[in-house]
Amino acid sequence: MKVYLETYGCTLNQADSDIMGGILRHAGFRVARRPGGADVVVLNTCTVKGRTENKIISRIEALGKQGKRIVVAGCLSINKKRVRDACPEAVLVHPGAVSFIADAVRDAAAGKIAEYRERAAKEGLPRIFTKPILRIPIQEGCVGNCHFCQTKLARPYLMSYSPGWIRSWVEEGVRKGAKEIQLTGMDSGAYGLDIGTDLAALLGEVRKVKGDVRIRLGMINPGHAKKMLPKLLDIFEDRKFYKFFHLPVQTGSEKVRKEMNRAHSVADFRAVVRAIRKRFPDACISTDIIVGYPTETESDFLETVRLVKEVRPDIVNLSKFASRRGTKAAELREIATDIVKRRSTELSAIVRMVGAEKNREYEGRKMEMLVLEKGNGKQEYGWKGRASNYKQVCVLGKAKIGERVDARIIGSNHGSLFGKRI
Ligand code: SF4
Repeated sequence: MKVYLETYGCTLNQADSDIMGGILRHAGFRVARRPGGADVVVLNTCTVKGRTENKIISRIEALGKQGKRIVVAGCLSINKKRVRDACPEAVLVHPGAVSFIADAVRDAAAGKIAEYRERAAKEGLPRIFTKPILRIPIQEGCVGNCHFCQTKLARPYLMSYSPGWIRSWVEEGVRKGAKEIQLTGMDSGAYGLDIGTDLAALLGEVRKVKGDVRIRLGMINPGHAKKMLPKLLDIFEDRKFYKFFHLPVQTGSEKVRKEMNRAHSVADFRAVVRAIRKRFPDACISTDIIVGYPTETESDFLETVRLVKEVRPDIVNLSKFASRRGTKAAELREIATDIVKRRSTELSAIVRMVGAEKNREYEGRKMEMLVLEKGNGKQEYGWKGRASNYKQVCVLGKAKIGERVDARIIGSNHGSLFGKRI
């Protein structure tokens, strides 16, 4: 039987798809490259934004009309009614129940309506990975309770994998040719709080793994980062670790931060970024910002603008507030769409300007990069990869995937650096 896996959302969800693919192959299913030839389609879904949810629901309806047997996994599976309205026969697999994916596919193929909610450990499960990048989930769930977040409802419990398992996955990845390891979770900073350890201890363990790899650490809340900063910065001295820090702040207004119930202050975010840049002047800082939170006034918005202009993050994942079912924020009256749109447009222009200015500072510099993929063929830059601070570099000249090359940066835009191999 052929199964097609379609993945939406964050790196953690992609890591879950790697596990589901591994289980299906292990169970004798063939994982198809395209939905056309598949008997069953598994949609590993995301529910972080309303727009994404609507897109996935339309996809489920379209596949249902084509007579496809469907399994809906991932965070949207918590919204059974909406999924079943779109496809009454869909089999549901909750994020914690991916180990039952083979049973779910058999049910779908047999036209049996079923739902898998039971959480089961993902340690020891087979996985598929496409060289040179290996995604490793280190935890899921979090200890926060942000009022806008529906992901928390889909993955409500903090679950950290044991350091031993994570180390063995990294070692296995290196043996199998991984050149980049992405350690991922819903909040890496919460790692280990449920098993009597913490992120710094885990990274200390992981860095002992022999091998020429680069490690990218996933999103970490500024509150957690602040608590373990000295240890974290010492560990990041190891050249294995990309000098890349993804620290969501969500707003520049302390008032809105409290109303969002974020477990860190805006000042914490500033302090963490300052300390990181003091140790690693070239560090790449990425953050997430929501504009238009229902309680956001014009002056709150201007505080967010000021924060971006002052801290100058390299990357800002900007979202317009979208009310998510079941969250506290969904009970609040929303701001008029045109105001939210205007704020989002204003801030994204500033974000692009800051990104472009920061990248321009690299022009003329020699940078080492890890080649990770072929360019898209549209441009003359044949290869794409990451510098030691995880900045994207598109490079001219001969190279091959997994190779470390030196490049002279000859151009840039807000999202990428352009280089010539030297
Ligand atoms: S920390 Fe907040 S935003 Fe992040 S997953 Fe938890 S509840 Fe959601």
